[in-house]
Amino acid sequence: MKGRKFYVDVMQDSAEVTGSFIPCIVKIDDQTIKFAVDCGMYQEKGYEEQNQNFPVIPENVEFVILTHNHVDHNGRLPYLVREGFRGRILTTEVTKRILGRALRDNAKVISDTSKRKNKQVLYDTQDVSNTMALVEGYGYNYPVRVNDNITVTFIPNGHLIGAACVLVQIHCPGESKDINLFFTGDYNSKNMFFKVPPVRKWITELPLTIVTESTYGNMDSSQIQKCFRKNILQALKQKKTIIIPVFSLGRAQEILYVLREMKHKYPSYFNEVPIYYDGKLSFYYTKKYFELMDEGLVHFYFHKKAFIPEDMKYVEIDEGACRDDIVKDWKCKIIVTTSGMGSYGPAQTYIPAFIGKPNALIHFTGYCAEGTFGHTLKAAPQGSIVEIGGSKTIKRAEVEYTNEFTAHAKADELLKFLKKFKNPQFIMVNHGESQTKDIFADRILQEVGVENVGILGREYFYRVDQNGFVKSLTSKFL
Ligand SMILES: [Zn+2]
Ligand SMILES: [Zn+2]
Repeated sequence: MKGRKFYVDVMQDSAEVTGSFIPCIVKIDDQTIKFAVDCGMYQEKGYEEQNQNFPVIPENVEFVILTHNHVDHNGRLPYLVREGFRGRILTTEVTKRILGRALRDNAKVISDTSKRKNKQVLYDTQDVSNTMALVEGYGYNYPVRVNDNITVTFIPNGHLIGAACVLVQIHCPGESKDINLFFTGDYNSKNMFFKVPPVRKWITELPLTIVTESTYGNMDSSQIQKCFRKNILQALKQKKTIIIPVFSLGRAQEILYVLREMKHKYPSYFNEVPIYYDGKLSFYYTKKYFELMDEGLVHFYFHKKAFIPEDMKYVEIDEGACRDDIVKDWKCKIIVTTSGMGSYGPAQTYIPAFIGKPNALIHFTGYCAEGTFGHTLKAAPQGSIVEIGGSKTIKRAEVEYTNEFTAHAKADELLKFLKKFKNPQFIMVNHGESQTKDIFADRILQEVGVENVGILGREYFYRVDQNGFVKSLTSKFL
């Protein structure tokens, strides 16, 4: 049959790590179906303006698939709705349960920053409510028929509770072979809290075009240095105040769990050392963990609340845990607080209060983007003057960093995952710094056994059919 059209164009609205938005345009003869995977915010410095532009007209998008509840993947959904999108938003049931609060919190952050910079807000809480009305939650490994031509399946993923890889199967009447797209989303093969089952055989045996993330595509897991426990024990020995900035979802709960374990293993170090936990959004997610466990929607390795250190105090909730008093107290203590990069939440109070004190340790536990407290402190030599939160101080506290808790698979782990697929036809690399995407693409070519690897960015989009790669085209939205 000559001249039949059956293909999908896969684009990427993001140049590097944040702002994940992958519009896909399906052509089946004269029919066009537009959908997108994720709709996140740009957070990299200088990319903010990009948040206002979509490479597709929002009202023409039929549905959006959301891989997980991180702002660089979900943060622009309400803006898409504000700009005219009225379709379905498909995600996992767990992500659906925590999404509303995440988006409302983000609306608040946007409103605060917009006011400060005298700019128009991207969206407000009404847009968030309109967005939530479109969200549908599904279980894992259950193919969801979206329309006559498209089926979507969510696949377990260790990146975060509720996170999924996504299989999109596109069917064309009269054609025996489907186009199968597999999106890793942000991916991790393991999680501290739950078991990640392997991808089902029926999926690993499909001919696939894969879109893979590459955040740590330039680093193998053997290069990760574990120092967190050692640093904390040493600071406890020296009777320091220990401030641990954490991301409110995932990292916060992991750090609490690690502290509980350490307390059991080294009780003498923790003797009479109070542990404080501070951050409203973080409290909310921790409570959600309990609820989701109760409902049987998540299955953790341990029983309810068994990841919270005994005697831990919730700041501004529990007695004897007043933030102003904690800041003034000079005794040895541990404060686990948001935000992870230090610039928002109660960390904004703790970090400036302790950065000038030699008897303090500030231990970051994740990636710190340019412009955040975490990044500023990393760049400043010990004893130098730092300007943080509007005041100048000499950096006297010890400041440490670790990437051992990252929620992303490293290059070797990602390659191991990609090799599980028996019939990969074409692989596209996204979600990584430009150089990292390049390095990882080369490793895929050498180790996975595909003929072509595409680099998803703003320069090219890729046409894919039942047999994989067809051609790359220069993006119109450059
Ligand atoms: Zn993520
Ligand atoms: Zn991400």
